[in-house]
Amino acid sequence: MSYYITDPCIGTKDTACVDVCPVDCIHPRKDEAAFLAATILFIDPDECIDCGACVPACPVLAIYAEDDVPESQRAFVQINEVWYKDPTEAEKLIGEYITSAPDQMALDPKDRAAAHGK
Ligand code: SF4
Repeated sequence: MSYYITDPCIGTKDTACVDVCPVDCIHPRKDEAAFLAATILFIDPDECIDCGACVPACPVLAIYAEDDVPESQRAFVQINEVWYKDPTEAEKLIGEYITSAPDQMALDPKDRAAAHGK
């Protein structure tokens, strides 16, 4: 299993999650070249040890355990995984998600998690 970062990270990229992750499996970090271009941060599912430390660290409640990812956010399971193999493809998938969810994207990032289950 792994944890996954979802749409409240769009427009946030807070990086508090990066600071608490004990295995450094959330990227890109602020000191990595890919940080500026990345729309969100991504959890590497092959490295995540399911500790859950990142969940309360996120100020916009963007992170879920795999089994808890809301239906509306399922695209982000693939998006997190794909970024570690093909960042361009991951950004393309994020773009498709943004286009498909205008009402969700119109919300402030801090209000999106509350709308995930609706
Ligand atoms: Fe890192 Fe733990 Fe979050 Fe996985 S669950 S991304 S290991 S902090």
